[in-house]
Amino acid sequence: MILYLTKNITPAQIAELQLHLNQIGCDATMLAMHNALLSPNLKDTKIKEKYPFIKEVKSIDSPFQLPSLSFKKETLFEVNGIAIGTHFNNIIAGPCSIENEEQIFETATFLQKQQIKFLRGGAYKPRTSPYTFRGLGKDGLKLMKQAADANGMAVVTELIDLSLLEEVLQYTDIIQIGSRNMANFYMLAELGKVNKPILLKRGMQAKVNEWLLAADYIMSGGNEKIILCERGIRSFDPMSRNVMDIGVIPLIQSLSHLPIIADPSHGTGASQFVTAMSKAAMVAGANGLMVEVHPDPKKALSDSKQALSFLQFEKLMQEIELLKPTIKNPIDASYSIVA
Ligand code: PEP
Ligand code: MN
Repeated sequence: MILYLTKNITPAQIAELQLHLNQIGCDATMLAMHNALLSPNLKDTKIKEKYPFIKEVKSIDSPFQLPSLSFKKETLFEVNGIAIGTHFNNIIAGPCSIENEEQIFETATFLQKQQIKFLRGGAYKPRTSPYTFRGLGKDGLKLMKQAADANGMAVVTELIDLSLLEEVLQYTDIIQIGSRNMANFYMLAELGKVNKPILLKRGMQAKVNEWLLAADYIMSGGNEKIILCERGIRSFDPMSRNVMDIGVIPLIQSLSHLPIIADPSHGTGASQFVTAMSKAAMVAGANGLMVEVHPDPKKALSDSKQALSFLQFEKLMQEIELLKPTIKNPIDASYSIVA
């Protein structure tokens, strides 16, 4: 339940209400941006009668609270002057890992010519094997920021551990939380205090409720700028890296106001299927895509099988262009920005 408070409520009255809620065994988190108290386990609908400084009571009938459509109808925020939200589409593209100066600059220059506004790349890579390339670390972050700046792009990079938060914040515009950290609840709660958008990938085993509750960890901590990203889930069949869950796109949109994008690169694990799944995701209503691109995919130090070459990426863009009239949220980089 969310208790919206009157404008002139005093800190003492808030404390009184919080104390009461705690005494009856309910949490009471202040949502400063909304001048409201979030109390998910409160059942007493008559509480408003006892406390005149409660203006309105809203029940939320799902385990996740703030990502729910009952909380708000739309999410809208801005990154580097680009509007992001449930009405809008964006493409985030770049290599799996930042490998060297030439690779990231070449990729950024190419993507900028394709009108892409968001450059992705990992500097700290969560690799299954400790014996594979794990990223350039801070040097990689610096290179990507320089390449993005030189091309007027925003940076998206993964945070793999809270100890790196300050460092990553210095270089990124959007913090990516990877599949392996979707259930790192302490980390998610800390991201609630951060004033940068979070791209929250779906855990490879996560149910929809678990994913939205992960978003709630961030939102209830005070950060409502979240983009969900479907990146495929594990199945029994080793034939494909993951099963890309296209059905989750309209499902999420029936439950949540949060934007949802699709990552067909990790979703399929194979470059030859990326275009088909990108189009499928767009038609299903995704608010954007995250696609891995590399100047020479065969030589990529991570995820080489799924990276698109520049030529393949150009073709993907052309195919998406053709789809524009049929998709729910046509990609339009010139969409007017709402503050
Ligand atoms: C990535 O985007 O390169 C990545 C590691 O993704 P995921 O967390 O989805 O595996
Ligand atoms: Mn990758």
